[in-house]
Amino acid sequence: MKAAELNTLQQLLNDRGRHLRFNDELEREFQMDYAHRYYLHMQIAEIAGMIMFLSCGFLDMIWMPEAAGRTWLMRLIAGTPMAVILLLMFWWPSKQRLSKKYMQLFLCIYATSAVAGLIAISLNSLEPYNYYYYNAITVALVIIFVLSRIQFKWGVISAIIMWISLNIGLIGFTPEYNKLAIVIITNYVFIGSVLSALFGTFLIERSLRQNYLQSRMLSLENRDLEESNLQLQYLSAVDGLTQIANRRSLDRNLSLEWQRARRKREPIGFIMADIDHFKMFNDTYGHQAGDECLRVVAASLKDGVRRPGDLVARYGGEEFALVLTDSSAEQAAIVAEQMREKIMNIVIKYKKNDPVHVTASFGVASMVPGSGQANPEALILAADQAMYQAKRSGRNRVVIFGQSVDDQQGQRSQ
Ligand code: GH3
Ligand code: MG
Ligand code: MG
Repeated sequence: MKAAELNTLQQLLNDRGRHLRFNDELEREFQMDYAHRYYLHMQIAEIAGMIMFLSCGFLDMIWMPEAAGRTWLMRLIAGTPMAVILLLMFWWPSKQRLSKKYMQLFLCIYATSAVAGLIAISLNSLEPYNYYYYNAITVALVIIFVLSRIQFKWGVISAIIMWISLNIGLIGFTPEYNKLAIVIITNYVFIGSVLSALFGTFLIERSLRQNYLQSRMLSLENRDLEESNLQLQYLSAVDGLTQIANRRSLDRNLSLEWQRARRKREPIGFIMADIDHFKMFNDTYGHQAGDECLRVVAASLKDGVRRPGDLVARYGGEEFALVLTDSSAEQAAIVAEQMREKIMNIVIKYKKNDPVHVTASFGVASMVPGSGQANPEALILAADQAMYQAKRSGRNRVVIFGQSVDDQQGQRSQ
């Protein structure tokens, strides 16, 4: 999925953005990003346009008061759609999503209304002021094409509408005297400005599209890297066969819990568990059955540990270790005893083999960090020694470090 997306992005980049259009989904996202990024440009352009459009009306009242009534009427007619769009963009925040979605269409309507208004005003003005209004069209084009960030397609649409309205006005309303010259010169200036502006819009939009593709590719690649990192972290912390924590995580976790327990002056319990006669199990049922046995035992141990902060890890081979926070040796022995019974009751069935049972021996120790010679290595060693004592005294049992096996059996039978 990701490779396909990267491929599409790369192809579009190679295409150098000549078409100014992506596939539907990408195009939608690009337009959203574009609207989000350039909404402010559009607002500024619209305010600038509105100020220009209205302020010259005051000049009309000074220089040609006899025509000001008509020009203001034109201004009002053309200004209404412009004002509606401005309102929509500034004072209806709940509609911002809508106005962002249709930002380009709104710009197009705004721009054509402004230019059509200027043309109508110019036609209703007295000579020589009408020529200044034709020039004002060029200023309007600068605002529309440079400031507002109108896209090429919408720029072309607006330019065509403007050009048609300009010519209807020119041909229909220019006095016969010098008409042809005025039509040709005005068209020449208009077309020249529009073509240069459109070419600029095309180049800007193309490079924005290329930038968009590149930043999208970068963020995809970054996400890929993050995922690989997480995967690596997982792999370096988890045992591949049993999917429980590995030795490295055990060491890290024990050292963290040790610090925490030292601050809180709490004991840490540690259990070392070793499957009994596992070599024989392997020799009898095969290595793969042995692997399955390790998986099942690991899952059962993990299931038996429920408190947050407690950890079950594969210590190595058929040995497992458990870290129990805030646990005395007696409390840890209770957990170990439950696990011993659970393992005894597991039925291991691998392929066509007969169902088999296994047992495990447990060594338990607990220390309060900061007291005497206590350290993580000593804790592991103590649990290990207790586990070997459990082996020596007959296997399938739990032995607490420092207590004689007879004492413990005596205590349990009480
Ligand atoms: P004890 O009751 O004294 O613990 O005897 P044991 O046979 O369990 O102990 P020993 O250390 O002699 O044998 C451990 C066996 O565990 C030997 C080794 O082949 C097997 N083993 C270690 N890692 C794996 C593994 O990943 N998969 C399988 N199938 N076997 C393993
Ligand atoms: Mg062993
Ligand atoms: Mg063993």
